[in-house]
Amino acid sequence: MSFCADLCFDTLCVTAGRTARDGDPLVTPLVQSTTFTRAGITSTAPHAYSRVSNPTVAALESALGSLEDAPPAVCFGSGLAAETALFLAFLRAGDHVVCGRHVYGGTSRLLRDLLSGLGITCTFIDSTRLDELAAAFTPSTRLVFIETPANPTLEVSDIATIAAVTHRAGALLAVDNTFLTPVLQQPLDLGADFSVYSTTKFIEGHSAALGGSLVSRHTQHLDRLRFIRKCTGAIQSPLNAWLTLQGLRTLPLRLRAQSSTAATIASFLADHPQVDRVCYPGLSIGEQATIAARQHLGAHGAVVSFELAGGLQAAHRCVEHLSLCTLVEHVGSVETLVTHSATMTHADVPREERLAVGISDGLIRISVGLEAPDAIIADLAQAIEFSQDIATPHISTGGVACTAR
Ligand code: PLP
Repeated sequence: MSFCADLCFDTLCVTAGRTARDGDPLVTPLVQSTTFTRAGITSTAPHAYSRVSNPTVAALESALGSLEDAPPAVCFGSGLAAETALFLAFLRAGDHVVCGRHVYGGTSRLLRDLLSGLGITCTFIDSTRLDELAAAFTPSTRLVFIETPANPTLEVSDIATIAAVTHRAGALLAVDNTFLTPVLQQPLDLGADFSVYSTTKFIEGHSAALGGSLVSRHTQHLDRLRFIRKCTGAIQSPLNAWLTLQGLRTLPLRLRAQSSTAATIASFLADHPQVDRVCYPGLSIGEQATIAARQHLGAHGAVVSFELAGGLQAAHRCVEHLSLCTLVEHVGSVETLVTHSATMTHADVPREERLAVGISDGLIRISVGLEAPDAIIADLAQAIEFSQDIATPHISTGGVACTAR
């Protein structure tokens, strides 16, 4: 993104969804009303009932759409509610989905354990491998769903190439852009049909409000999503939309600062003798580095994962000995948050399956916050040192960056 484009984008984050008539409030009002009065039966008032639409939610939708040069987005009560609507809107019994193997666990659970019961089948692939993608299509494939960077191993998938292959097969492409947000990646510009968000994460940014959204430039698809939302009652609450709008105002500043600290932390970890592997797109080499440079807009995000020497026991000792960084199942807030993937987010995934996608017993995910970089590094350093003080010594293989295939 150019300097000018940065400025326009940052300005949009501050102004989008606001009105500027004489006497308007500076802050978008929170319209906490279930229903709206009508002058008569033929009223054309824009809102009638808040399960269908609400002024505060509409302000957020117009803001999120404008950030991707798209019509107003469709907002939902959570990221998973948005994904559920996407699947219900464009799939029916007999249809097939191709889904990246490295997606958020809740996405794969939805496809595997819920939609399968409705007669919708899914093939999980490594979306960094185009041969696997091409081989997965069937005549019934209607949708490809990927997440890039991957969660929690941070491999990047080539959105533009995947979009071209998907469209040749007559299917739609949805990209979960929760980790990078439109600040650092614009999936629609790269050919995707939908950008998918858990706004619960970086967009709201303060761990105060759940939410999800779908952004698209296809107006007929947006209409269909609004219909599904009306049928299922999955709209976002006005309060959460209001909180998310407040978060959006500072999103570019937060995400760029957090990404810069994440890059510093990734380098610290890569040089650490007790760290076996660091996963961060900014450290990747070869084809992964080329894709990241092409599709990330100036930075690689605020999530870093690393594998500690000493496996499960060391990882548990490390995360339990942190004092500034907080152990939670969450990313994207102003605080630095740490997750032990194997026993938290991916606890339901069988160990072999987990290991096959690179989620080893010692893998720790960090969502870097806004604290001073030195303070985060000092906390990690003492916790890593403590983690290695265990009965059975582990011979480290040294700090090796997670690299491209
Ligand atoms: N997508 C990603 C990448 C996520 O990390 C999450 C939640 O952690 C979701 C989707 C689901 O979002 P929500 O928790 O808002 O339902």
